[in-house]
Amino acid sequence: MRDLSKAMAHLQRHESSWQQRPLLSFGEFLQEVVQNPERVIRDVYQVYTDMVQAHICEGVDEYNGDPESINYLSYDCNRLFAEGSDRPFFADRLFANRFMRHVESLAVGAQQNKIYIFDGPHGSGKSTFLNNLLQKFEAYANTLEGARYEVIWRLPQPDIALGTLPLPTSFVEKVMQLLQDEERSVLKGGMNPGIVEPDQERWLNIPCPSHDNPILMIPKDVRPQFFDELFGNDAFKWRLHAEKQFEWLFRDEPCTICTSLYEALLRQYKDPEKVMECVFARPYIFNRRQGEGVSVFNPGDKPARDNVIRNDYIQPCLDALFTGSRPVHYVYSRYAKTNNGIHALMDIKSHNTGRLMELHNIISDGVHKVGDIEERVNSLLFALMNPEDKKVLTDLQALSDRIEYINIPYVLDLKTEVDIYRAVFGRHIEESFLPRVLHNFARVIIATRLTPHSEAMREWIKEPEHYQLYCDKDLLLLKMEIFTGYIPPWLDGKDVERFTAKRRRKIILDSEKDGWDGLSGRDSIKMFNEFYTLYGREDKLIDMTMLGVFFRKYCKEDPDFLPKGFLDSLLRMYNYTVLQEVKESLYYYNKEQITRDISNYIFAVNFEPGSSAVCTYTGDRLEVGEAFYQQVESRLLVSESEAADFRNSIQKSYTTVALPQEIIRDNRAIDETSLFQQLHDRYIHTLKTKVLEPFIDNENFRRAVKDFDLEDFKTYDRKIQNDVTFMIDNLQRKYGYSRQGAKGICSYVIDNNLTRVFNQD
Ligand SMILES: [Zn+2]
Repeated sequence: MRDLSKAMAHLQRHESSWQQRPLLSFGEFLQEVVQNPERVIRDVYQVYTDMVQAHICEGVDEYNGDPESINYLSYDCNRLFAEGSDRPFFADRLFANRFMRHVESLAVGAQQNKIYIFDGPHGSGKSTFLNNLLQKFEAYANTLEGARYEVIWRLPQPDIALGTLPLPTSFVEKVMQLLQDEERSVLKGGMNPGIVEPDQERWLNIPCPSHDNPILMIPKDVRPQFFDELFGNDAFKWRLHAEKQFEWLFRDEPCTICTSLYEALLRQYKDPEKVMECVFARPYIFNRRQGEGVSVFNPGDKPARDNVIRNDYIQPCLDALFTGSRPVHYVYSRYAKTNNGIHALMDIKSHNTGRLMELHNIISDGVHKVGDIEERVNSLLFALMNPEDKKVLTDLQALSDRIEYINIPYVLDLKTEVDIYRAVFGRHIEESFLPRVLHNFARVIIATRLTPHSEAMREWIKEPEHYQLYCDKDLLLLKMEIFTGYIPPWLDGKDVERFTAKRRRKIILDSEKDGWDGLSGRDSIKMFNEFYTLYGREDKLIDMTMLGVFFRKYCKEDPDFLPKGFLDSLLRMYNYTVLQEVKESLYYYNKEQITRDISNYIFAVNFEPGSSAVCTYTGDRLEVGEAFYQQVESRLLVSESEAADFRNSIQKSYTTVALPQEIIRDNRAIDETSLFQQLHDRYIHTLKTKVLEPFIDNENFRRAVKDFDLEDFKTYDRKIQNDVTFMIDNLQRKYGYSRQGAKGICSYVIDNNLTRVFNQD
């Protein structure tokens, strides 16, 4: 027999989870309040914002210290919207910023009693977004970190419930039924069936259907003094009075049921303290499927015939307990179940149109009638909407002060668009593309979603023609870079200067008009699938030519598919970028790298060729030899015949002046010695004059690139071999090319004569 005790131990652990805690008396509850005020005293807005902040770390500003920054930050929303979900939602940077502003406004308690409508076109992933958000909310609210308490009244069991009073048979049957099913634990036994108190049968537990926080049972007029006493002089007391997020504590009333229970008990006991002895606290447990705390309505869900919920067990008990005094009506609506929680409508159409109107009326008036009694609803209200449904709801215009729209259009940030392809098709897709080509696929998709005319962009860039080598005439490519939070290096200094906070804000605000048309999320995945099936092969990487051929076919079918000339501009921008990469890879402008090269060289000339040494100045391991020397010497314009003398003179200068005098005696760093300075100046001079020379003038170099990795490559002179190898290595290391891709891109630069097209510095 297998020992199952270990497996069963897991059950024990589950049993002891937060949700299973026994009821707390009001006194015990207050102890919790004092110990964890920030956790226990939260309304739904606070729990919601805490939940988001627990999942999304602080945003990142790539240009830290930029005085014109508008806090358009990069947020990692994966933990909130993607992780652990069957269908991940990908928030692009624009939406993430919009969403975080919405959350921040709730966090400070600025906007309440509003309906937040997420408005976006078909296929923008709205329902995935909302489902994932609610799933995370439900899970969080049921953890210790997100937990709150709700009130449960414990009253003496009236005789009626013990069966001593004659009851109509049907009623007795109903009670029996109730006692058997799951409600039994809720109504009769507290939360933990494992801890049955011996006198449990004497008590009748009445939960508040509105999930009121037990703290609200303190009568409103004495709350300020009560909290002053409760918190003594600790810091929290001051926050409580000062911060808007705690206003509800002084403002909110308990629900009508709790209020009338309190009053009825006070009439009976004539002692508020005794009344409070009936107040207990239990965890507020969220359950979307049962509509407790979180409830989601689909357009097709039929409205309940009767929205008045009664309880056939509790009501007779209450009537028996309070005979002769004013009756307590245990009556509530469906809305009570999501009080202090989230009420959401998927798509405003069909039955949800009516629900939206009803919700709107409820929050405008603050209360609504359920049977004879008034019910207050304080829920976080969400809805989803398609643009065309907005037109149908003409009445909505009149209601708009209670409604806040948060746009959720198609993805406009190319990094996010690429993340979607990776998530859907697997990370390996990248290996089939030359670097940047996959992102260019995303650029084309996003271009179909952008409005070609942006006032804000035109106001910023006075002469778009000036950038025709890198950007399209409508500046869509530039706009996309801005959306990803990137300021491209090809922008002129004066335009970078004009890129003020005010203009940035205008451009981001203008983006609200983008992403409503063009290829939907679903369309783009379909199109990527078609493209990848067609061109993704093992022997050849996907390049810009294939991309052009593929999309030109669509442009032919539909002339409005893309703005005219967009694909040409995209290719030019690509060419420019590729040329920069090749340039950077052939020579280092990088100050740090130059310093490294020269320091290593000075150190290495002290060693015999063939030896291996660790450079004292850089920590690099050097394989000293001809190849190593030549790499630096070619940049210092030292010919092969001069090389031996040159090395000797460097070594002499190092051992007689630089090392003993400047470094040891004067305590200078290697790059502060005159020897270093001299080599450095010579190095830079060569760099500036020679950058792309081999590509333009040297037929041997061009041929060597094409013969790279082939047998013939060994027939070229040493310098050419070194340079080509160096360039290819750098393209791989710095720009993520494969060896084959790096060779391909160099041939591409040669074949397309890019060095002449972009004849600039
Ligand atoms: Zn209540």
